[in-house]
Amino acid sequence: MAIQRATLTISEDDATIRQSLEDAFLPALLPALAQATGDFTLLRADLKPAGVSPGVAQGGMTAEQQEAAKLIAFEALRNLRDGRVQTAPRPIEEDVRRISAWMTGSAASDDYIPLLIEELAPGGEDLRAPKWRKDPAIPFTVAIIGAGMSGILAAIRLKQAAVPFVIVEKNADVGGTWFENTYPGARVDVSNAFYSYSFAQKTDWPKHFSTQEVLLNYFRDCAEEYGLREHIRFGTEVCSATFDKRSGNWSLRLRTPAGAEETLAVQAVISAVGQLNQPKLPDIAGMNSFAGPSFHSARWDHSVDLRGKRVAVIGTGASAAQFIPVIAEEAAQLTIFQRTPNWFAPVPHYHDEVPAGLSWLFLHVPHYMHWYRFWLFWNTTDGLLHAAKVDESWEHRDRSVSAANDELRELFSAYIRGQFEDRPDLLEKVLPKYPPASKRIILDNGIWARTLKRANVELLIDGIREITPRGVVTCDGVEHPADVIVYGTGFQASKFLTPMTISGRGGIDLNRQWDGDARAYMGITVPNFPNFFMLYGPNTNIVVNGSIIYFSECEVRYVLGCLRMLLESGRNAIDCRREVHDAYNERIDRANRERVWGVATVNSWYRNQKGRVAQNWPFNLIDYWRQTLEPNPADYEFI
Ligand code: NAP
Repeated sequence: MAIQRATLTISEDDATIRQSLEDAFLPALLPALAQATGDFTLLRADLKPAGVSPGVAQGGMTAEQQEAAKLIAFEALRNLRDGRVQTAPRPIEEDVRRISAWMTGSAASDDYIPLLIEELAPGGEDLRAPKWRKDPAIPFTVAIIGAGMSGILAAIRLKQAAVPFVIVEKNADVGGTWFENTYPGARVDVSNAFYSYSFAQKTDWPKHFSTQEVLLNYFRDCAEEYGLREHIRFGTEVCSATFDKRSGNWSLRLRTPAGAEETLAVQAVISAVGQLNQPKLPDIAGMNSFAGPSFHSARWDHSVDLRGKRVAVIGTGASAAQFIPVIAEEAAQLTIFQRTPNWFAPVPHYHDEVPAGLSWLFLHVPHYMHWYRFWLFWNTTDGLLHAAKVDESWEHRDRSVSAANDELRELFSAYIRGQFEDRPDLLEKVLPKYPPASKRIILDNGIWARTLKRANVELLIDGIREITPRGVVTCDGVEHPADVIVYGTGFQASKFLTPMTISGRGGIDLNRQWDGDARAYMGITVPNFPNFFMLYGPNTNIVVNGSIIYFSECEVRYVLGCLRMLLESGRNAIDCRREVHDAYNERIDRANRERVWGVATVNSWYRNQKGRVAQNWPFNLIDYWRQTLEPNPADYEFI
């Protein structure tokens, strides 16, 4: 299916327009109409949203303001329909400045304007597309490992730059994490207008936060639309990649669907394998003795019918918080083994469908989707980052790391208390003690409390001693019988690129060089591994701000910049300079030590075996964008 983009034609009658406006998100609609009609008087000072604040309906506009905004919007839509507006092209910078000032209360500063324009992709333009094309006379092919979100993106960009490429994908289809994680209830926790490529905005997301199948189909559609399938070798695994300094080539050892081994020679490699693709099973005594079926959330065994069964779930992270409510409805008895409770953020519309009127407006109003995306972007850009910063003088470090972090704690605590006020026994188990944002915050629309209060659900926090053929034994010695065990125990996030063997200059093994502590320059390049680029590599994960797609778009632009720099140099390869890489990582480490996830002692997948935060990006989104705009030749050795 094609990606449905805005059509910009309105033929519906007044009644339909009026009806649609009942579902409109007004703080983004008036800006879209102002831009479409060129009439900026639509952005009346008295209708300004109260502020960009997550979870506040209609940006805090009062009922009167909303009614007035609808009337204005209705007139503007009619004028558009009836061809009564003639718009002259205007500088987009000016529009962005005026509109962002109206929407957010303060005009975006000059350094943000180019970033916002890219994100907004006005008129559907793809402003991050490479503006160069490879000279066809230069033989140069890139291997992309993985056809998930970032691999597809890399392929789109390489194609635009006329750089030949092949994608090697171990699965039978594209989609990566959205192909593999088919557990019940799997969905994205970043609103879709933002969790989607800036240049492939779709107007018909059925839900604000799409379910797994919808996202998988989106990535399939992107692969189709950009003609990528013919470049993908499905069912093929990359076992190893070895750099040959003499030729400057990488040699990839592949295992084909038939199980045969094959070699692929390329000039550069882009690893797009993600951080969360190797399931992590716990090391619990007796695990293998369990008599019934057991499986990990990312390898969901759909052949196991949970209806009427006694199901044990180990883990309560982001994955488990999504599948537990669904399987609780099927299982006869669900026993949840929680080690660390989550902080929950209230998002009442988390599971809601996009109302029909809003969908109609997305489809028909020029720029509406873009300004809606802008609103989400601004909301989450650096949204909670300030609340994750450590204040060294803060005295209440057992509960929070700063006044802002404490405020967040109060907000989430009040929400959780409200959800469990009738069940003090459960409240005691679910209220976290660690500072918020040390771990991933889970979105909730009330379903967690509803699930835990069910008669067939039990939440245990005693710790697991062992697993027997019959069930799970907690540290108090009680055996909890189970027919099925589901492990929602996360991923081997610190083991970047495993199980592949990557050998660089002088045959050095990447995992040996890392020695359990993966790091990279920009999260992308590693000294001794020329022409080897990682997407979603070390320190490019975000905890409280942004969308991982935003990062991938920045990373891919940087990688394309590196390839251009290399091709124009006439040399074989570029290798990141050690001192540049080390200085960069010192800066990252210093900043991560000043973030709540860097100082909290709670378990999290953000720290590796050496205790270093190897996953997270500690700064603002714009900082990553700025540093990845183009590579600095001085950062690389040309070989
Ligand atoms: P996770 O966050 O690492 O959660 C793993 C869970 O298993 C935790 O509750 C952990 O407890 C528990 N656990 C691990 N080993 C255990 C053991 N030996 N005994 C008892 N409990 C154990 O993994 P995840 O839930 O799969 O999520 C990983 C990441 O994937 C998320 O942080 C997020 O970035 C991403 N994700 C996103 C979405 C989404 O909504 N878009 C959905 C799913 C996943 P502790 O907390 O004590 O370690």
